[in-house]
Amino acid sequence: MKAVVYRGPRQVSVDEVPDARTEKPTDALVRVTATNICGSDLHMYEGRTDFEEGRIFGHENVGEVIEVGDAVDKVKVGDMISAPFNVACGHCRNCEEQRTNYCLRANKPGIAGAAYGFADMGPWQGGQAELLRVPWADFNALVLPEDARDKQDDYVMLSDIFPTGWHAVKMSGLLPGETIVIYGGGPVGNMAALSAITMGAAKVMVVDRHADRLRLAQQVGAIPIDDSRGSPVEQVMEQTNGLGADRGAECVGYQAHDPQGHEDNSLILNELVQSVRFTGGIGTVGVYVPQDSGGPDDLAKHGKTRFDFGDFWFKGQAMGTGQCPVKRYNRYLRSLIREGKVTPSWIVSHDLPLDQAPDAYKHFDAREEGWTKVVLHPDQAG
Ligand SMILES: [Zn+2]
Ligand SMILES: [Zn+2]
Repeated sequence: MKAVVYRGPRQVSVDEVPDARTEKPTDALVRVTATNICGSDLHMYEGRTDFEEGRIFGHENVGEVIEVGDAVDKVKVGDMISAPFNVACGHCRNCEEQRTNYCLRANKPGIAGAAYGFADMGPWQGGQAELLRVPWADFNALVLPEDARDKQDDYVMLSDIFPTGWHAVKMSGLLPGETIVIYGGGPVGNMAALSAITMGAAKVMVVDRHADRLRLAQQVGAIPIDDSRGSPVEQVMEQTNGLGADRGAECVGYQAHDPQGHEDNSLILNELVQSVRFTGGIGTVGVYVPQDSGGPDDLAKHGKTRFDFGDFWFKGQAMGTGQCPVKRYNRYLRSLIREGKVTPSWIVSHDLPLDQAPDAYKHFDAREEGWTKVVLHPDQAG
C-alpha cells in the first residue's frame, strides 16, 4: 500500500510499504477515504518529538471497513467509519470511566493513552495510507450514516479536531450566555469557536495573527483578535468591560511564539490567565510535552514553563488539561453534522490525493496563507 512515511525533520515521502492487515480477532481493516494533516503532525514533522523515522503519520481518519476479525460483531464490512485518534481498549478502568484518552492498555506499561501514527502514543501506524488497522474495532469505530461519503470532509473532523475543540470549551466550564476567548485560530481553535457558538456562548473571541484563520473565525460568528496589532489581553478587556472573559481555551501548544517569532511555551498560558476573569475557567488542549530537545532554553527542553501560578491562584481560576477523549463526544457531534446543524469542513482549504502529501506538509508547516486545513484522499489518483 501507499503511505506517508516520516523520513526525518521536515521530510516525508509517499512510499510503497507492507499492507496494514488485521492482526487480532478484534481488529478491523479500513480502506481510508479521507485523512487529515493535523497541527500535531507538524510537531513530529519538524523533528520536535521522538517520532521514529519510517513510521506512518495520520490520526484523523475516515474510511470503509473491508475486513473484520472473528471477534468483531457490531462493525460490518462495507460500513463507513470514523476512527477516533485515541486508540483505546474499551474495558480498562479509564476507558470504562470515559477517559479513552488515557486508556491503560493501548500503550506500553506505565504510559496511559495511545493514538495512530503519533510520537510516544504506542505502536499504532497512521492512516495517511491506503489501509488502516483499527484495533478493538467494535469499541473504536464510530459507524457513519448514509451521507458519510458526501459529507466526509465534515465527518473526518470527528477523529480529533472537532471533539478536541469541543473538549477545550467543556473543560473551560462554559455556560450558555458566557464569553470565551480562544487562543489559536488554527483548525482546533476554530473548532473550539464553532463548539462555543453551538453551546450558546454570548461572545466568542479568537486570537491569532494569520488573516486567513481570523477570517474563518469571523465566518463562524467569532470576533477575530489580531495579536500582531497589540496586546490580546487588552483587546479582550475592551470586549468584556474590563472584566476579562468568563472562559478561555488554549489551542496553540508548546511551540507558542510572539508575532516576532520568539518562542516561549508560557506565553499563551500567561495571556490566558490575564485575559480570563477572576474564578474563570481555562481548557488547555494545545500540545505540551515532558521533553522537547528542540526547545529554545533549558526549561523548555525539560517541558517546564514560566507559568504565572501566582496570578492564576490569586484569581482563583481552574484549568483542565490533556488530550481529548474523543469517544465522549463523537457520536453527538456526528448527529450535529448529520442534521445539518454544523459544517466543520468550512475550514478545509485543500482536498488532495495522497501523492501530494509531501508538498502539502511543506505549505501547511509554513502556515502559508490559504493553507488552513488539508484533507488527503488515498483513494483518489494523484
Ligand atoms: Zn490531530
Ligand atoms: Zn482502555
